[in-house]
Amino acid sequence: MGYEVREYLLEKFHRTCAYCGQTKGRLDIDHIIPKSKGGTNRISNLTLAYQRCNQKKGNQSLEIFLKNKKKLERIKAQCRTSYKDAAIVNSMRKALVSTLKKFHLPVKPSPGGLTKYNRVSQNYSKQH
Ligand SMILES: [Zn+2]
Repeated sequence: MGYEVREYLLEKFHRTCAYCGQTKGRLDIDHIIPKSKGGTNRISNLTLAYQRCNQKKGNQSLEIFLKNKKKLERIKAQCRTSYKDAAIVNSMRKALVSTLKKFHLPVKPSPGGLTKYNRVSQNYSKQH
């Protein structure tokens, strides 16, 4: 899995371990439904966790591992891909454009993308 996927997950989960809620140290990509149980590499099946939490979880399903139902619901809600994802992807794209510019590559960010970004952010604020 690429660097972008990890960056995306760090944004999405606010640099927090999905299982213990801590933010210090290196977070690794974790499969919510373990691959051995038929989990996929789809973004909606991925989260971030410390290696020790990941190991503690092992091959248990999320429902068994997390006895705290509130935490379980929160993770499930976070994992649903949403319009917010579009905004994150867009900000990543912007970062990519500025990186490419540093290397003097000809890049033009499309105006259509920006319009979409604005629309997504407006939808987002309406709900809050
Ligand atoms: Zn943890």
